[in-house]
Amino acid sequence: MALDPKKKADFFKLSKAKYEKCLDPLLSCTKNPIRAHSVQNATALSHIEEENHVYEMKFNIENERPVVALKLVGRNHASTFKGLCAEHDNQIFRPIDDRRLDERDREQLFLIAYRSVIRELHAVLEGAMKIQSAYLQLAERGDVPKDRPSAPGGEAAQHMLKAWAVWRYRYRFFDKPLITRSFNNVRHLKFAVEGKPPVIASSSFFSMDFKHWGQPFPALILNLIPTGPDRTLVLFSFAEKHSQRAARYLAKLLRSNGAKKEYELSCLMLDRAENFFVSPRAVNCWSPEKRVEIQTAFSQDFFGPNPLSNAPLVRTPLLNLFDVD
Ligand SMILES: [Zn+2]
Repeated sequence: MALDPKKKADFFKLSKAKYEKCLDPLLSCTKNPIRAHSVQNATALSHIEEENHVYEMKFNIENERPVVALKLVGRNHASTFKGLCAEHDNQIFRPIDDRRLDERDREQLFLIAYRSVIRELHAVLEGAMKIQSAYLQLAERGDVPKDRPSAPGGEAAQHMLKAWAVWRYRYRFFDKPLITRSFNNVRHLKFAVEGKPPVIASSSFFSMDFKHWGQPFPALILNLIPTGPDRTLVLFSFAEKHSQRAARYLAKLLRSNGAKKEYELSCLMLDRAENFFVSPRAVNCWSPEKRVEIQTAFSQDFFGPNPLSNAPLVRTPLLNLFDVD
């Protein structure tokens, strides 16, 4: 059935709507946010770009169906979001933007994770805003009831609850520790993928459980940071309170080695992470089958029948994102 052109136009208008407010720790700033990279452009992206481009998973509508596909994007736009004004961005992130990364520096590791949390908060607020606007449009037109529960109304409420839960998480585990400079409240597990050119960069945040939004939840923050021509730092960060949970969640991955470890990490990223970038060096070597498998695995996460279900990722040997041949 063809989509009503008016509804299609509404959808595209909504999908382009942007949430633009500085998300400073006190949420009191009224300055306009600037576009900043969630993955550092000058360092991390420089090790995976080819001709100033990287690949990312892009959502689109093709033949009136939503699809996710790997698309080339200019590295100056990759990973950017408008989460903080220039003043707050500079004030908060100067220690990682101006100083070389020291992987033992608690403040730097905290700030890398903090940036992932802000990116997520911005993404969920923007998502909630779009879904709420879509619901209001439907209600205005009389397509859904305003005075009784409905599926679109429930969906809008879930997104608002998610945004609220992520903000509460940030406030408790990051904003307050940032203000008191208690960087030890966030713990990290890290290892490096070494001896091969970096192919992935990421700054992601996700829940380790599948409860309905609104309740406190244990989050895991995953950063993949290419640090040199043959090394990628894999950094997992979590609140100290969630240390045992994170250790259990990551046990299989951390026990593995070599290609098996890369495979486990790839499955975790396709299953849970959203914000990652792949080098054209890798994607251009992948067979068409591998590309399709990877896009399909990622869309299961994106369009799963129920985003709260913990249906396992359908694993196939082709899902290793680190393969370059
Ligand atoms: Zn600000």
